[in-house]
Amino acid sequence: MNLFDLHCDTITELCRAGEDLVNRTFQLSIDRPDFDRYVQTFAIFVPDGCRGQAAVEYFDRNLAYFYAQMERYASRIAPVRSGCELGGVLDGGRIAAVLSVEGGAVLAGDLRRIALLKQQGVSLLTLTWNGVNELGSGQDENLPLTPFGREAVAELERQSIVTDVSHLSDRGFDDLVGIARGPFVATHSNSRAVCDVPRNLTDDQFREIVRRGGLVGINFYPLFLRKTDPDGAGFRDILNHVEHFLAIGGRDVLAIGSDFDGASMPRGVNSVEKIANLYDFMLHSISDQGIVDQIFFENAHRFYRERMTP
Ligand SMILES: [Zn+2]
Repeated sequence: MNLFDLHCDTITELCRAGEDLVNRTFQLSIDRPDFDRYVQTFAIFVPDGCRGQAAVEYFDRNLAYFYAQMERYASRIAPVRSGCELGGVLDGGRIAAVLSVEGGAVLAGDLRRIALLKQQGVSLLTLTWNGVNELGSGQDENLPLTPFGREAVAELERQSIVTDVSHLSDRGFDDLVGIARGPFVATHSNSRAVCDVPRNLTDDQFREIVRRGGLVGINFYPLFLRKTDPDGAGFRDILNHVEHFLAIGGRDVLAIGSDFDGASMPRGVNSVEKIANLYDFMLHSISDQGIVDQIFFENAHRFYRERMTP
């Protein structure tokens, strides 16, 4: 099977712990899976409380750690900065690593930092985490985008960095719809109709992403999968979200956004190689390999090739 995962927090955890991409500690270790083609998005998570120059220094430290890990494991994995680099890495049998940033605090209120992020190899920016930053707010407070946030969205599009709405407030989402010209993505968000938590997408939000040709990555975090007895969450709950999204036109935008090492995971998928079992379960349940392959790889792969320009 092939996997394109739109979100994990592994690199931030590795940096904090001084651990390696090959490890026995974390949900993601690059030696465990045996996928035919594997693209993993690594988010540098910038906490809401980390602001201004402190946010810049924090990001730089994590960025250096990311590239040091890429060097250390260069025989198995390589960073990709644009769609045209993807084929070479995958054809060579290596894992392709896409870099994202989770938290617009990374900009430290300076629009010029967006062009710098592009040079540093960042492909996606999650505008907010749960709280407030210079761009707007996450789901903790339902604030609109700030004037700076609106300018940042335009600049992200100019620099071909993809805007990620996971965590963004509903008012922020509405503002984004009014100003974004192209598609945007939700790297790790589920369906609010299936599990009613603010971190999940409403059907209208999902349809807007479909209309624009974006992506939505299914998140494995039990509290976003189901409200009752989340400890019992598993493959069936993941399937419920997938089936709901498919029923409202999501075939071409659905993807995987595991959230490995950013959250606790259901036992059945608490380690990256177990995604192969989820894939088998989906094949059995949906009985259309074309759709399952789209979700696990093809949709995100197509989007990345088309939209991530150098
Ligand atoms: Zn997140």
